[in-house]
Amino acid sequence: MPERIDAKTYLISLLADPIRHSLSPTMHNEAFAKLGLPYAYLVFDVNQTNLAGAVQAIRDLGIRGSNISMPNKTAVLPLLDELTPAARLVGAVNTVVNQDGHLTGHITDGEGMVEALAREGVGIKDKTLTITGAGGAGTAIAIQVALDGAKEIKILNRQDSFFENGLATVDKINQQTACQATLTPLEQAGALKEAIAASDIFIEATSLGMGDLIDQKISDDATIFRPDLVVADVVYKPQETAFLRFARENGMTQAYNGLGMMLYQGAAAFKLFTGHDMPVDYIRDLLF
Ligand code: NAD
Repeated sequence: MPERIDAKTYLISLLADPIRHSLSPTMHNEAFAKLGLPYAYLVFDVNQTNLAGAVQAIRDLGIRGSNISMPNKTAVLPLLDELTPAARLVGAVNTVVNQDGHLTGHITDGEGMVEALAREGVGIKDKTLTITGAGGAGTAIAIQVALDGAKEIKILNRQDSFFENGLATVDKINQQTACQATLTPLEQAGALKEAIAASDIFIEATSLGMGDLIDQKISDDATIFRPDLVVADVVYKPQETAFLRFARENGMTQAYNGLGMMLYQGAAAFKLFTGHDMPVDYIRDLLF
């Protein structure tokens, strides 16, 4: 790494707090090194108290681009000059590109899931999807699949503080895309079963299956699921969640974890920063 950095090296940043656990610096720096690209990627501890200054520093210092993570993904919106349609609809940004001081905000999380599925031979166009979870990950995925031509999205969320966000997402999809979306309380008897019966793809985008909720899964009713259903979980740590284990035990062979989403959201940002394709297989082998 040190021998790569000289007077022609450009900086890419990541603004978040907490952030010292992130895999993104390794992912991007190893990819820059592999391709011999003149960039270095560094994290900065940034939260609401210093976000405005940090974003202005992107302009002032000519930082080529930046990833944005919690707690800044929404707070950064008014500080940017332009948003992509997906970022505007999601109401969040995870990637900023600096073109001569003009900052454009992108959201690549949903793209990451769509690309991960595409690499497994699973297309989104004209499909019906069930998505559980109307938080950050679920919203980014729902908006992206709607923009990418999904026919229908059935979103389910428990009646917690994210339910309102789900209602707003459904309104935006119905009014601003050709896709039809609905939101149903997860607690409603039979709702998940009914949604999945009408769906080609099921995406589990809640926080279940990791951290304190590691042993929990969205359902343990095997009659809801069928072997030809494509299932994807956004969680990648652990790589097999309780739900994915249950899915595989019940015959679902097309069952994917969130690793692909994580890698391809990074690859999409890498392409925006550098114009080059990230060597994804090399990075996957290095990180996991
Ligand atoms: P969030 O806090 O914005 O949303 C959490 C969601 O989980 C909400 O919809 C909430 O209603 C639901 N939820 C929480 N507890 C629940 C429970 N007990 N039962 C049912 N639903 C419950 O979080 P987020 O940013 O959307 O992250 C969700 C998950 O996605 C996390 O595990 C995160 O690590 C993962 N994630 C993965 C990637 C990736 O690249 N693979 C990217 C972003 C997030």
